[in-house]
Amino acid sequence: MHFELAEEHRMLQDLVQKFVRDELIPLEGAVLAREASGQDAALTAVERARLDKISKDLGLWSLDAPESEGGMGMPYVALVGVNEALGSTIATYTLPPDSPNLQMLAATVNDEQREAYLAPYARGETISAIGISEPGAGADPAGMKTKAVRDGDDWIINGRKIWITRAAEADFTILMATTNTEGNAKAGMTAFLVDRDNPGFKVVRRIPMLAGEVTYEVLLEDCRVPGWKLLGAEGQGFGPMQIRLGTRRMEMAAWCIGAAQRALDMMRDYAPQRRTFGSRLSERQSIQWWVADGATKIHACRLMAYHCAWKLDQGMDVRTEISMLKVYATEMAQGVIDNAMQCFGAMGMTKEMPLHMLAGRVRNMRIYDGPSEVHRMVVARNLMDTRP
Ligand SMILES: Cc1cc2nc3c(=O)[nH]c(=O)nc-3n(C[C@H](O)[C@H](O)[C@H](O)COP(=O)(O)OP(=O)(O)OC[C@H]3O[C@@H](n4cnc5c(N)ncnc54)[C@H](O)[C@@H]3O)c2cc1C
Repeated sequence: MHFELAEEHRMLQDLVQKFVRDELIPLEGAVLAREASGQDAALTAVERARLDKISKDLGLWSLDAPESEGGMGMPYVALVGVNEALGSTIATYTLPPDSPNLQMLAATVNDEQREAYLAPYARGETISAIGISEPGAGADPAGMKTKAVRDGDDWIINGRKIWITRAAEADFTILMATTNTEGNAKAGMTAFLVDRDNPGFKVVRRIPMLAGEVTYEVLLEDCRVPGWKLLGAEGQGFGPMQIRLGTRRMEMAAWCIGAAQRALDMMRDYAPQRRTFGSRLSERQSIQWWVADGATKIHACRLMAYHCAWKLDQGMDVRTEISMLKVYATEMAQGVIDNAMQCFGAMGMTKEMPLHMLAGRVRNMRIYDGPSEVHRMVVARNLMDTRP
């Protein structure tokens, strides 16, 4: 066993850290100002276009895209440091292409879909979304009601999706629907590639979330999808969907480590400067413990993340570890950021500091890709007989 990152992965991590320091952190003032004045806090199209050019020139696109598609085929261990750096800033930027759908597509496409969807996506030329959640089925997607019914060579999809990130901007959405009309939605869960301009695919509501994030509600009204756009096999969508969710959970853990480290660093810099009751805050045991416990938990979480990434790279089963990691990382980061906010006093409550946005972003993560309670249920179920 050794804990050294390969030289090329360490260099990649250094490069992304530099990109974040030089290009993303300077945008935080504008992000905060937009958020505080009720505008869309996300990076503007102009800001994104500039970042796209810089990151492409730096060779930071298609990091984990398959080499067969011109990507670099980077393993999960290489991406922990990349996402830790990206998670440390509130100027949220995705190095194209977004990994989860990439991995789901790579695992499922046929030749026709490879050319039409995977190849341009792997090159970073298109944006995608995933439509799983519904008003009546979120944590438990097996309760989904959106149905796909065969009509000749096509499929007709009817239903409603909610909380779909990027649904309005995405060139295509991987839409989960059930082809089983007998009631067992999970048994019929099927993925479809639905283009933004596909008739019957209607984005009906923009929903602002915490920390300037945005999701959408989507109505599927007699949405006719050509048969060749069924992704993978009919009724076999659950497995590939888990590949996707697992990839996002790895990213999320790394983002949380980055966010927690940023908050800890801010607290560590500030506490020795601020005096109350004749002493520096850094002399107080409560603040020392926030720093010591925070650093310990970040260290533990980083080891968990690298271990889980390594197991994924070996093709090993991480169903228990990835749920542990998702719960631990999100709750760890929430705690560290909250302590940092407390340490800064009223300054920590302002919208002039990035802490509230880091906190909101991490708070969202305790819900999406499975709420903490559901992941604890999975861990417990994998460790003991939980049946009534
Ligand atoms: C910022 C954001 C972005 C998102 N993006 C997407 C997206 O792109 N695509 C998409 O499909 N979905 C997306 N989602 C939806 C997300 O995956 C769901 O919100 C999540 O799975 C929870 O579903 P729900 O909101 O319906 O909560 P519910 O299923 O109603 O659960 C509510 C609460 O009940 C509790 N609970 C549920 N089940 C159990 C259990 N078994 N044991 C104990 N407690 C339980 C938990 O505390 C849970 O938070 C996003 C959500 C957010 C917040």
